[in-house]
Amino acid sequence: MRKKHPQKVNTGLPEERYSSIQSPWLLSVRAAVLLFVAPLVTASFFITISQFEGSLSRLVTIGFKQGLLKIMIAHGLSLSLKPTIAYACYIALQAVLFQLLPGPINTSQRTPAGYLLTYRTNGLYAWAVTHAIYALLCWYGLLDPGFVIRNWNGIFVAMNLFGYLAVVFAYAKAYLRPSHPEDRKFSGSALHDLYAGIELNPRIGKTFDFKFFTNGRIGMITWTLIDISSIAYQHQTHGTVSSSLILVTTLQTIYTIDFFVNESWYLRTIDITHDHYGFYLIWGCFCFLPANYTLQAQYLAHYPTSPSTIYLAAIFSIGIAGYSLFRSVNNQKDCVRRSNGNCLIWGKPAQYITATYKTSDGVEHKSILLCSGWWACARHVNYVGDLLLSFSMCALVGTDKLLVWLYVIWMGGLLVHRCIRDEGRCKAKYGVAWDEYCRLVPWRLVPGVW
Ligand code: NDP
Repeated sequence: MRKKHPQKVNTGLPEERYSSIQSPWLLSVRAAVLLFVAPLVTASFFITISQFEGSLSRLVTIGFKQGLLKIMIAHGLSLSLKPTIAYACYIALQAVLFQLLPGPINTSQRTPAGYLLTYRTNGLYAWAVTHAIYALLCWYGLLDPGFVIRNWNGIFVAMNLFGYLAVVFAYAKAYLRPSHPEDRKFSGSALHDLYAGIELNPRIGKTFDFKFFTNGRIGMITWTLIDISSIAYQHQTHGTVSSSLILVTTLQTIYTIDFFVNESWYLRTIDITHDHYGFYLIWGCFCFLPANYTLQAQYLAHYPTSPSTIYLAAIFSIGIAGYSLFRSVNNQKDCVRRSNGNCLIWGKPAQYITATYKTSDGVEHKSILLCSGWWACARHVNYVGDLLLSFSMCALVGTDKLLVWLYVIWMGGLLVHRCIRDEGRCKAKYGVAWDEYCRLVPWRLVPGVW
């Protein structure tokens, strides 16, 4: 699978040259702000839940009077032994499961330098074993089922600690022991490199892929564990489990299990094929995802709500519709790429454009741009499905508190930005073939709107 590479650093592919910010100085400023501000903003959200009944306006008002940092130190940011050890054990367990559990071997897309890497996709087993261990520990009284929510301050600090350590490790490894030197990306700003990452697919040996491990195992598995702990905590403190929390957890469990059932598909998404391994992905999966994607469940753990059954049924249906759309669109792309265009889309032979691109060693490759099925309606209908699902996950809580809606607001911003970023990269990669695709499919997200 490995090719012989020219000893050249940086891929030189056009995709690296279309970023809107080019000045290393500006890149450094932006990275510095994100590196230091993002954890503080995230911390302020859980403090808003634990101290201000989920009201961001109260946090801001009191924060102005007393000083935000003072409030954070008083209510949140402290290192404690038990949660730190528990979190370290969780990471160690994930690493062991990642390495030892069986699973099919799949390949990703060719990297800009021409590598075709293989991955063992055993995430579904890892998810099941982790949850079974959690259940057994609780059953035998060795773990409080509400432990995560009860110790959230300490766990949040531990997630940041390990996240930042991993960022520094990734940065040092990229210089000292890079896995695929030609796939590294340097911006000219050390801070930006720390933020965006240098290596594309850092590995230890042939099989331990850090990015795949961090995104799948550290990020996604934590999501449902926190939801389940929220259910237990709500039951322990309020003597009941609200329908809202059960439905939010159900949707997020469907989304998580779907991710692992379709883990080979994930190998062909932007996270794995294009994003480099830096703070954005590492801290994002160690801390941002677990802390922010579970805000609805965290809120409900403390403050149960009781929307009407009709309301819940309607909103849950929107969530299921969004999920179905998300899965169907993603399956079509995955199917056409895996079968090299030899598949049926909505019962008819797939229609596609054959596009060519060059890797940095000068070799030309062929790729397929699907332009039938969902991919004829708009260029990113999969994002619409995800947004409907995200809306439902927030609306199910049944409150107008802004904090609970942050997830769908975030996803909206992320996916619109991703759409623009990805299309710039695709245009640079495929040139006229991409122009032809855009001519055939003129809409980005929603036909007739954008
Ligand atoms: P896609 O799976 O749509 O991947 C985009 C890539 O697919 C492009 O870079 C291009 O890559 C290829 N491509 C583009 N157009 C076509 C086409 N017509 N036919 C075939 N291939 C095409 O996007 P993402 O990786 O961003 O997202 C995957 C899913 O994950 C989405 O459903 C999204 O909603 C979800 N997601 C969820 C997040 C969350 O935090 N919950 C975050 C991000 C994404 P190439 O270079 O291979 O041609």
